[in-house]
Amino acid sequence: MPAASLSLTRPYLTDDHQPLQQQIQDIVNTQIAPLAPQMEERGPHTDREVRRMLSETGWLGVLLGPDEDGMDAGHVVKTWMLAEVARRSAAASAILQASILGAAPIAEFGDEAMRRDWLPDIAAGRIWPTIATTEPVAGSHVLGMETTAHRKGQCFVLNGEKDLVGNADLGDVHCVIARTGKRPGAKSLTAFLVEKNTPGLEVVRRPLNGLHGFSADGLRLSSVHVPRTRVIGEIGDGLAVALLSSVVYGRLNLAAVALGIHQRLLDVTKEWVSTRPRYKGHLSDLPPVRNRIAEMQGQLMSAQLAAYHAAYLLDEGIPCDAELIYSKLTSHRAGVASAEHAKQLHGGHAGRLGNPCEQLRRDMDLVHAPAGPDDLQLIRLAEQALGPSRTQWSARHLSHRHR
Ligand SMILES: Cc1cc2nc3c(=O)[nH]c(=O)nc-3n(C[C@H](O)[C@H](O)[C@H](O)COP(=O)(O)OP(=O)(O)OC[C@H]3O[C@@H](n4cnc5c(N)ncnc54)[C@H](O)[C@@H]3O)c2cc1C
Repeated sequence: MPAASLSLTRPYLTDDHQPLQQQIQDIVNTQIAPLAPQMEERGPHTDREVRRMLSETGWLGVLLGPDEDGMDAGHVVKTWMLAEVARRSAAASAILQASILGAAPIAEFGDEAMRRDWLPDIAAGRIWPTIATTEPVAGSHVLGMETTAHRKGQCFVLNGEKDLVGNADLGDVHCVIARTGKRPGAKSLTAFLVEKNTPGLEVVRRPLNGLHGFSADGLRLSSVHVPRTRVIGEIGDGLAVALLSSVVYGRLNLAAVALGIHQRLLDVTKEWVSTRPRYKGHLSDLPPVRNRIAEMQGQLMSAQLAAYHAAYLLDEGIPCDAELIYSKLTSHRAGVASAEHAKQLHGGHAGRLGNPCEQLRRDMDLVHAPAGPDDLQLIRLAEQALGPSRTQWSARHLSHRHR
């Protein structure tokens, strides 16, 4: 039998975390793992059973503080938790992370009344939030967005279309970023909280080719009236809301989902090579096969180191934009490299529908774009190395946390 998994969670997770880890692991094993096969078999859909189940865990509030009835468990625990969920169901982890991300704008930019009104319900899983930044023609170029918000008395009227919004179909309230000023000014965007049943708001279904059970649909806004009190932060804070949420929350969330998929790829491949007969033993006895497993193990360890290190710096209050960028980039690249080894080691069986490598590769592909595709991470990393200097969103997050 394969040896136990190597784990690089120490020293980031300590004995103090053990009881919480055990609780999370029990739920993952007994409640999430059994749902995973049926989620995959159903193909593209919005899985409400997973939402119901996750709502009871309180995990949406993993980063929220005691005043908000949250777990206050920090970024290292969040990263480990999302990775463990993804190891059993990448889609369940994608669902969870999209609404942890959706809570970020309110937690980071909301005034006291907004935080009090929404965050305890989110922590309790009664309200699932989303963040809606991307548009059909403006993804990474956030300042290119076309959705507008015009002032009308005590309201703003929103018109436009969002795309690829994680949990759009599942969410109760959407943080919609829209244009309130002339392009391309950094202060030309504003963030609004828009409830799901608001007249003029419509979910436009656009199925994904992986992560079955998770959906990232469009949101059409046709003269949607939003009261002035639903502005998140100040008028003109929209770009900061979008970028801080993406850099500080999104990058690690997606890195964690990739870690879980990657670990699963390694699990199933180790099992495969250790049990598939070859000559007088198994595939795992052959040096080239062992080399590929070593490559996969090494790729996973690099990605884990990058993610837990960045999460640890955040928990310690140390600004770490470069580390966050690197963890998102590495987790995806390393996962793709391991998926190739897994495919090679599964031979022709890798091409069969239902083969775990095929599914895991599809799921890994969908981790690429959210919170920024690899090319954009490289651009940001080059800026960290060479300039020009940019806002350090992690520093801003840390100053918000201590306000
Ligand atoms: C599973 C999933 C979940 C998502 N969840 C959310 C969500 O919850 N909320 C939300 O708002 N969005 C979400 N998104 C959307 C995601 O944030 C965008 O896909 C991402 O920002 C990239 O935008 P784009 O797809 O429009 O690609 P584009 O910006 O069009 O980029 C396409 C490619 O062009 C190249 N490119 C683009 N710009 C540059 C440049 N400046 N320099 C060099 N090369 C460049 C890169 O190769 C890039 O990969 C999600 C997407 C997916 C797949």
